[in-house]
Amino acid sequence: MTTSRRSFLTKAAVAAAVAVPVLGPPAHAAGFDPRPGADGVGDPLYPTLGNGGYQVVHYDLTFDFTPVTYDFTAAVTLNARATQDLSSFNLDTDGHTIDAVTVNGRPAQVALSVGKSGQELTVTPGAPLHKGAPFTATVTYHGNGKAPRASLSGWKFGTDGGFASAVQSSRADTFMPCNDTPSDKSTWTFHITAPEGYVAAANGELTGKDKRADGSAVWHFALRERMPTELLGIAVVKGTYLYGTSHTGLPLRHVVPQGQEDTYGPIVARTPDHLAWLEAKFGKYPFSVYGLHIYDGYTDALENATLTLMGTNWFKPNADGDPTYENTMVHELTHQWFGDSVAPNDWQQAWLNEGPAVYYAALYSEERGWSLMADKMKATYAKLDAVRASDGPPGLPKGLGGTNIYDGGALVLYALQLHVGQRKFDRIMGLWPRRFRDRTVTSEDFIGHAVAVTGDRSLDAFLRDWLFGATNPPMPGHPDWTVVA
Ligand SMILES: [Zn+2]
Repeated sequence: MTTSRRSFLTKAAVAAAVAVPVLGPPAHAAGFDPRPGADGVGDPLYPTLGNGGYQVVHYDLTFDFTPVTYDFTAAVTLNARATQDLSSFNLDTDGHTIDAVTVNGRPAQVALSVGKSGQELTVTPGAPLHKGAPFTATVTYHGNGKAPRASLSGWKFGTDGGFASAVQSSRADTFMPCNDTPSDKSTWTFHITAPEGYVAAANGELTGKDKRADGSAVWHFALRERMPTELLGIAVVKGTYLYGTSHTGLPLRHVVPQGQEDTYGPIVARTPDHLAWLEAKFGKYPFSVYGLHIYDGYTDALENATLTLMGTNWFKPNADGDPTYENTMVHELTHQWFGDSVAPNDWQQAWLNEGPAVYYAALYSEERGWSLMADKMKATYAKLDAVRASDGPPGLPKGLGGTNIYDGGALVLYALQLHVGQRKFDRIMGLWPRRFRDRTVTSEDFIGHAVAVTGDRSLDAFLRDWLFGATNPPMPGHPDWTVVA
């Protein structure tokens, strides 16, 4: 055990000792009926994701990571509120060794069991919790980034011995015990230790850095807007911070591979133009900071709140020499409005994230002269009937990751735009992230919103046919578009 870990555990013990006392009426109050919280929130695609009986208000995550060995010690404190009288509650977890759990500063009993996605940590507080009462739970734990997991891992390892998190849709529990459902949004603070030669990154703003005698540092971050666990973006990497500001003064901070600043500096410098293009459509960017984390440990692109994660593999021009990777930068930036600020209430609503992201990336590509929206949509239309049959329609997917949600979701928006016209469509899409900012939403919210904005009640049936139907409706203005059997 290293010195830094000893001091860390001492700090956690102090934090536990000063935690708030039990609140609420005494246990014999009339009607008090504590029962276990549910082990899932009933997500249609992931029934055991998240937990019932409480909502998290704030997460505070302390994470002390050692590169190359991938060992870590950690502590997470949840400030939460009980939504029922609770005798016990669950946290989602996977692959950690749990060292101690306290609730309101008092030791709690814990039991670990295998769930359908990872593990369930059942916490029984010393005193039951009252509905409506705030409570604080602290879990100290340790583990190894490469340890076996009961389900998929959200850890992504680069050639530098570091890591980045990519946890969508259900893998935040491989970094910390949590309420791993998109329906539970909270604010966050992070305290991440990185040794000399490495930097730490996390969602939100860097609020301080404590250097230690051994050259390591604890990096403190705060995300003041609320975020669900699926958008967790933490990292310890050999990276360089590049800073900038948007055209409206938004602070930008990017993390690029050390020594490759000349390659990635001009690429991340495109962000202010991307922001301006999207802000003209959806209004002010919804968080207080933004940036890209470009890392060779990841090969996809992910819209972690305020800190999009992209693999180094993206950044090659196409055959014509065009920087078409900017489409993906715009896709992930669109998500900051559609998916991050306005988040899906459950995973069956994922088209509300991916549809707009695909649509506006395609529109950006068309405006740059790289491809035509209509070509992409016609090809999607041709294939979507078969995809509806195999993977479900865009609004009722059987799983995540399919073209029904991505290109299919964009096709629903394209049909809506042709049906109502450009001006009304722009109002629907522009008002959506303003009206539902910081909330979680469903397809029903979008349908109601489209009707409310336009005053056109026929949009209810129109959108239902496109979102939930077994086959494509005719494409407005394109009666010649056909499907491939
Ligand atoms: Zn996306």
